[in-house]
Amino acid sequence: MANYPPETTAEALAHLQTAFTDYSLAHGLTVRPPPAFAANPNNALSTAAPVSLYPSLFPRECFEYGRRVQEAYNYVYAAIANDTEWLGKVVTDLAAVDTFMKALFDVYIKAKEEGFAHEWCLGLFRSDYMLHRPTPEDEPVIHQVEFNTIASSFGGLASRVSELHRFLVRSGAYPPTPQLSLESIPLNPAAAELASGLAKADEYYGPTKSGREKGILFIVQPGERNAFDQRWLEYALLENHNVKTHRIALSEVPTRTRLESGSRRLIYTTALAQDVEISTVYFRAGYGPDDYPTQLEWDARLHLERSAAIKCPTTAMQLAGAKKVQQELAVPGVLERFVAQPSHLDLLRKTFTSIFPLDTSPEGLRARKLAFEEPEKYVLKPQREGGGNNVYRAKIPDFLRSMDENLWSGYILMELIQPPPAEGVIVRNGEIVRGGVIGELGVYGVILFRQDTGEPVVNREAGWLLRTKSDESEEGGVAAGFGCVDGVCLTD
Ligand code: ADP
Ligand code: MG
Repeated sequence: MANYPPETTAEALAHLQTAFTDYSLAHGLTVRPPPAFAANPNNALSTAAPVSLYPSLFPRECFEYGRRVQEAYNYVYAAIANDTEWLGKVVTDLAAVDTFMKALFDVYIKAKEEGFAHEWCLGLFRSDYMLHRPTPEDEPVIHQVEFNTIASSFGGLASRVSELHRFLVRSGAYPPTPQLSLESIPLNPAAAELASGLAKADEYYGPTKSGREKGILFIVQPGERNAFDQRWLEYALLENHNVKTHRIALSEVPTRTRLESGSRRLIYTTALAQDVEISTVYFRAGYGPDDYPTQLEWDARLHLERSAAIKCPTTAMQLAGAKKVQQELAVPGVLERFVAQPSHLDLLRKTFTSIFPLDTSPEGLRARKLAFEEPEKYVLKPQREGGGNNVYRAKIPDFLRSMDENLWSGYILMELIQPPPAEGVIVRNGEIVRGGVIGELGVYGVILFRQDTGEPVVNREAGWLLRTKSDESEEGGVAAGFGCVDGVCLTD
């Protein structure tokens, strides 16, 4: 769209940047500085998170569509996690070619064989989309990039970003711009909604053994830079729900927690040597191989999985978030198995992009040909999370050639989504960069369901995240250093 984001004088821009940065620092829209930046004794320093100076224009209809479809998606992924037969078949094939998937599957099998002790499962999901508009004549639609079932991050910061952009409108720091109004920049409830999902789990867990305090355990990465995003959920839990939280790394699980014999209640010992019964384990770590440097971390994961605490997510839910599952859902006839009602089929499928297996099925063999003959149209994805793992376009053929053909089935081939051109202004480490950008809308979802039947007692949409990256970068990860947290400026 013409004239957006607005151009300003250098003086007006400097004023805006000061207002923007000070608001961010004063309101915890922050991350820990990168290690290369400064010594950070006792983690006393924080720095403004990479954020978009202006909220990005986003078609209101597409935004509302993403929010509307979220409950249907939540239901599907909970149903997949509960479908041992179907999920087991998909993951058994993956485990044969992917050691990480195998280790995760082993945890699932061991805990299942013993019998799960948890009664409820919690999903804090995020479904990610990009606008798809192949030609200027097309109406834009949203197409799904991926569905996250573990460590769906940035809800805390995303809420602060909508407040920041609204503040800049109200305070008059933005130059007069027709698109920028409070009406077009909705307040994003993600932080409060995700916290409320965790609080619901804590409530459904039920009472502790008499006299014992109850709490939620956050499993985090040592040295996490995005810690304040997580802290916002903790503060909302305490302030809105009076629920206490505790944070440890997977490596600390054996020394700080134990299972009560028989009931397998999970007991956490605080720094004050007090015993707390953990209602819910929330994983903000454990999604990739780097989080399991030794067997100790895998043992810790199994220990937590065996416990009676509600897991967000269970290993089954994490496995359901595999990119292979997303590809399988696109196979005709598969989605039917998991939807709550037939009317959801079309609603969900409208967000699908073509995704192909790279195995030796007829479909897979066709896709192998595509990967070599028309790689420009595709992205190749392994079963990994967290950014930086995909292979794009012309690099696909050489990448595939460099490995044993037997391992190809661990990857999926996905058609590239084609977003319309857009401009943006990103502020990262104090530097302002203006240029072509690509946005990715994430919609959060909360679902709490019974472990035995899969029946949900809570299922709702829970706010959103817009991330924006330079259109010169293939990847969009904010934490991985490729993009920034953004907000929507809705257009009709
Ligand atoms: P991860 O689990 O590492 O986040 P994603 O599937 O989200 O993996 O891919 C990482 C990034 O790659 C996305 O944020 C997006 O920028 C880009 N990407 C992924 N799939 C597509 C696609 N089909 N079309 C265009 N870009 C894509
Ligand atoms: Mg992603």
